[in-house]
Amino acid sequence: MAERTKIGVLDLQGGVHEHVEHFEELGIEVVRVKNSAQLNQLAGLVLPGGESTCMIRLLNIFDMVEPIKINHANGMKIWGTCAGTILIANKLINDFPQLQLMDITVERNAFGFQIDSFNSKASIPKVSDQDIELTFIRAPKITNVGEGVEVLLEMEGFIAAAETDMCIATVFHPELTPSLMFHKYFVEKCGLTITADATKRLNRTSWMRYARVTNPVRK
Ligand code: GLN
Repeated sequence: MAERTKIGVLDLQGGVHEHVEHFEELGIEVVRVKNSAQLNQLAGLVLPGGESTCMIRLLNIFDMVEPIKINHANGMKIWGTCAGTILIANKLINDFPQLQLMDITVERNAFGFQIDSFNSKASIPKVSDQDIELTFIRAPKITNVGEGVEVLLEMEGFIAAAETDMCIATVFHPELTPSLMFHKYFVEKCGLTITADATKRLNRTSWMRYARVTNPVRK
């Protein structure tokens, strides 16, 4: 069996590039995972944010559901961000669960529509000694965790981040904020070493930054 020395980001749909950029900033080689043959070299796989229905359909079309489960059982850790958290949950409120890799209950679109997205900040001492910026985009809520699941961040009436030995679930998007600390946390959880300075911040403000556009000339 190949050695698990790399981090992968599932690259079928959703916010792939920003995760890749964060890991590369930490000096970590990233695999953009498009098929199951790429899984056996991975110490960890990120299931990114995006659209969970679309992602599970694509995972089925490309026959990746069982290979992900098998690789996970053989040591590949998984970090689900937002839609990724929906994919790994054991239970979904009013919906059928999908990969069922983590004993959490998740409510999809729990804050409302896309326009109900928001930013926040919180202290997550296990991950960083600085407050971490949080970006919630049509996010789910973790409403309950089973035995053996550690809550990393509880907010007003819901759980925003949790972990087990083998999984992390965040309903927000660390890849859309300048901090590298969550990516560092996952890399180290996967047993890989970081040599780059993880306290540096990406030169980006937020996914909601104002973009200046020139009005097109109408004829
Ligand atoms: N609302 C999306 C879903 O239910 C998740 C949103 C996200 O990943 N930012 O799949």
